Amino acid sequence: MARFRFANLAGRAVLVNDSEYWDLERASHGSVSSDPMVAISMATDIDRLAPDILASTPSGTYDTHSLLAPVPSPSKVFAIGLNYKLHAEESAMEVPENPVVFTKFPSCITGPFSPVAMRGHAVDYEAEVVVVIGQGGRDIPRERAWEHVFGVTGGQDISDRVVQFASKPPHFDLGKSFDTYGPIGPVVVSPDSFEDRDAIGLSCAVNGEERQRDTTENLMFDVPTLIEYISRVTTLVPGDLIFTGTPAGVGASSKRFLADGDVIITSVEGVGTMSNTCHFA
Ligand code: ZN
Repeated sequence: MARFRFANLAGRAVLVNDSEYWDLERASHGSVSSDPMVAISMATDIDRLAPDILASTPSGTYDTHSLLAPVPSPSKVFAIGLNYKLHAEESAMEVPENPVVFTKFPSCITGPFSPVAMRGHAVDYEAEVVVVIGQGGRDIPRERAWEHVFGVTGGQDISDRVVQFASKPPHFDLGKSFDTYGPIGPVVVSPDSFEDRDAIGLSCAVNGEERQRDTTENLMFDVPTLIEYISRVTTLVPGDLIFTGTPAGVGASSKRFLADGDVIITSVEGVGTMSNTCHFA
């Protein structure tokens, strides 16, 4: 499997290094689509072509802050609640025996440097490692799960705690699906680019103050388990996202919710850093 970094530059699928990009359609002589969603459905082609493309002359240079959501319109967006033990404890919730799976509506997805348009006064951050499905499938066994992953990206599972807990049992999906409540990016990194794809560090800072730091090594339900569990129910398709859960340190635990003008910095080791500014819509 190849090492590559996939991104969405001005609506076109590209491979990138830190400063240069390769337009996938042009660099593949038309065999890979310029549309990011269609390109992701050609995951095996990208994987095969990436070494040659990255050895060719780049299409140009780019500014990281101009990158858009690398998976702009996923078919399904899953997220996992309470998947780090310390976060389950800070939430005063029982440590789950099975994955707590909910969905974020795909319409909440936004870019890695896009604003978060807050619609309430108990809006919270949740830094997460997000998995992007490449080759789809149903009943995927955990041993083969990583073969179905196109790459790994960063995500913010922005959450309105009032809406989330307005009902009993809570409706996680509504509270976490306001428009712009799903920043992802800045790039999607192929699984084989990681030294250990099951131990990826992540962190979150608000206005420069670190609030969260952990590694996916501490997930109670790891990526293969989640893919096996979810694909037992639904057929996963290219571009489907799984937000794998957030570490301890969310605002709800200290009653410090996001305020107008707050800047959320979300970093995933080996992927990069997103910066999202909050404002009241
Ligand atoms: Zn979450």
